[in-house]
Amino acid sequence: MQNSSDFEMSAGGVSLENFNTFGLSVKASQVIVANTIEHMLKAWEDAQKRGLPLLVIGEGSNVLFTEDFAGTVIINRLKGVRITEDDSAWHVHVGAGENWHNLVEHTLGNSMPGLENLALIPGCVGAAPIQNIGAYGVELKEVCEYVDLLDLNDGTMKRIYNEQCGFGYRESIFKHEYKIGYSIVSVGLRLNKNWQPALKYGELTKLNRNSVTPQQIFETVCRMRRSKLPDPKIMGNAGSFFKNPVLSAAIAKDLLHKHPNMPQYPQLNDDTVKVAAAWLIDFCQLKGFRVGDAVVHENQALVLANLGNASSKDIITLARYVRHKVADAFNIWLEPEVRFIATNGEVRSIDVLA
Ligand code: NAP
Repeated sequence: MQNSSDFEMSAGGVSLENFNTFGLSVKASQVIVANTIEHMLKAWEDAQKRGLPLLVIGEGSNVLFTEDFAGTVIINRLKGVRITEDDSAWHVHVGAGENWHNLVEHTLGNSMPGLENLALIPGCVGAAPIQNIGAYGVELKEVCEYVDLLDLNDGTMKRIYNEQCGFGYRESIFKHEYKIGYSIVSVGLRLNKNWQPALKYGELTKLNRNSVTPQQIFETVCRMRRSKLPDPKIMGNAGSFFKNPVLSAAIAKDLLHKHPNMPQYPQLNDDTVKVAAAWLIDFCQLKGFRVGDAVVHENQALVLANLGNASSKDIITLARYVRHKVADAFNIWLEPEVRFIATNGEVRSIDVLA
């Protein structure tokens, strides 16, 4: 995986259609595809000098551009994979701009299991710690050793170790303290040689713990995902639009009393219960509901999709409608997982959807 020094810069309204998986045809003043740290620093410095807002993204798989962006978007394409090992683990140091699923295939293909439950998650490696990506019972925080962060203002590097990352459910310090003025340049993963299958979810529960291979888990996860989730290359989307709400045990008990079929997952560490947002939306009979070309996906209600020509406004109006419907039915206000980017930068999604 090579490190090229390509540097693309376009002035005066550049389409972001190919840089956000919703496929929205919003624009930015400038788009810079940065393949090296030097490019990234130069882009940041130039934007600072011109007083332009600046945004660093990877594959744009978890963002909603609510309108045109009045500044520079830097596309993080820092590449490279370096693997070392010791007696207990493989240590995989990966450039933030590598594609996540390619990395999963690369490690599995080289007999280094551990990422198979996280197959087919759209986006790049640098996005994984920001979101603490998770699927089918595994979260990034279980394999992340460190995150290397570039301070765009002075060019220095910081290594943030796992326990400093503030990982939570779709949460990390990279959404807060290290949100502005920093870019993730690489991620260090630790894949344990004493591999244990994670078989808690869906069809995975049917596999035999004693004989299952990482490849079988990978294939099962890919099959489950492909059967429910739209491929963003075919139908624009940003994965789960809302987070699964985590409620107090008392509120969850009350809801279960009213809705005995409601899936609920007590959290191990505290007195809270996670409920499936998709089930709440489906209960409101919103699967297939459309606003313009924005739709609640037929197979997975947590995904809002672009049927082709959706505008940002269509997606926002649909998300607002879904949120209000769920609140009317359950008194639960869903919070977006997707990050909202307005003309000058990120804004609070719940304010936009109020
Ligand atoms: P699902 O199996 O229909 O289940 C619905 C929700 O219930 C999931 O979101 C999951 O929560 C929760 N759940 C299911 N089984 C569980 C268990 N054994 N223990 C605890 N919680 C359980 O979910 P799905 O939509 O097909 O997604 C499958 C997995 O892929 C989930 O882990 C989901 O998070 C992940 N996924 C993530 C995205 C994204 O954009 N973030 C998109 C698609 C799928 P959790 O989400 O907390 O795991």
